[in-house]
Amino acid sequence: TPFHAAPTRYDSMPMRRCGRSGLDLPAISLGLWQNFGTDRSPETQREIVLHAFDRGITQFDLANNYGPPRGAAEEMFGRILATDLAPYRHELVIATKAGYRMWPGPYGEGGSRKYLLASLEASLRRLGVDYVDIFYSHRFDPTTPLHETLGALKTAVDSGKALYAGISSYSATRTREAMAVADRIGLDLLVHQPSYSMINRWIERPDSSGESVLDVLGETGLGAAVFSPLAQGMLTRKYLHGVPEGSRAAAGGPLHTSFLSQENLSRIQALNAIAGRRHQTLAQLAIAWVLRDPRITTALVGASSVAQLDDTLGALENLHFTRDELRAIDRHAQD
Ligand code: NDP
Repeated sequence: TPFHAAPTRYDSMPMRRCGRSGLDLPAISLGLWQNFGTDRSPETQREIVLHAFDRGITQFDLANNYGPPRGAAEEMFGRILATDLAPYRHELVIATKAGYRMWPGPYGEGGSRKYLLASLEASLRRLGVDYVDIFYSHRFDPTTPLHETLGALKTAVDSGKALYAGISSYSATRTREAMAVADRIGLDLLVHQPSYSMINRWIERPDSSGESVLDVLGETGLGAAVFSPLAQGMLTRKYLHGVPEGSRAAAGGPLHTSFLSQENLSRIQALNAIAGRRHQTLAQLAIAWVLRDPRITTALVGASSVAQLDDTLGALENLHFTRDELRAIDRHAQD
């Protein structure tokens, strides 16, 4: 059956301006890091993506290496675009990245111009589009001068193959440097993509420069798309009573069961109780909490089912915090 997007899709999703740019992003965006490989049902993947769009999620976050295997998530998203979302291309923000290992040899990872621009070409082919909306340097590469990495992003933008450029997981110091270099070469960086959640608060802490990532974002006007705001599922109720089958932690992938330490579990219990007092699920509390800071543009969430995504989207019904609630959360929201 042909897909017709819900006419109500823009009725309830708050749009937030990405830093000091002209681009609005939905408060919640969908990430395709996990759950969009060839090991999962294509039909479920299609349902999640189309449901997301119907609910006002305009931004889809990908990277060259998302799968498994590497590249599969972009291919899957490309197929959904071809069959369903092509008429809505102008309503979508498609983001991709290069930085981690993608192919063998010295040009298959890092921050070189050689790697970044070849990777972008390959991403465009897999996605079946002639431009992406955001192209990221997926990580800082200490062996490559920043002006080369950012110069490659500028070439991507100047050539029309990306509309905007971003950086991911750069420290406060490196973000400052990147902004200075971008300024020098005439590149407008749009967004930073760091990890952030109630149990992973590194972007709030100053690094050796004396500034935190959030300080730099606030001052320079870079937006923030924060990843793993549910701490890969730990900030939901799913691990409160052990590791359920089929969960990310059970799969032995990037969510190590060692993260589910007694210490973390008791924090999660306490946060779950606070969520309950707000009539929210823990996932909803976790998302509302990252969005409490106006410097955070969007929460990049993952989902392995439509039901999970709907639960998470319920966060939008209560984004307000009292000072007392924030103080109570701070007692447990520690990393
Ligand atoms: P989350 O913290 O949102 O974790 C998502 C996982 O949590 C899901 O796969 C699911 O686990 C579980 N989950 C989600 N919603 C619920 C719910 N309502 N109830 C119970 N469990 C739930 O984010 P991710 O770690 O997936 O990261 C999100 C996105 O961020 C990625 O897709 C990617 O786009 C981006 N990212 C970027 C990185 C970077 O380096 N720039 C690195 C990592 C992520 P399960 O599968 O077990 O059901």
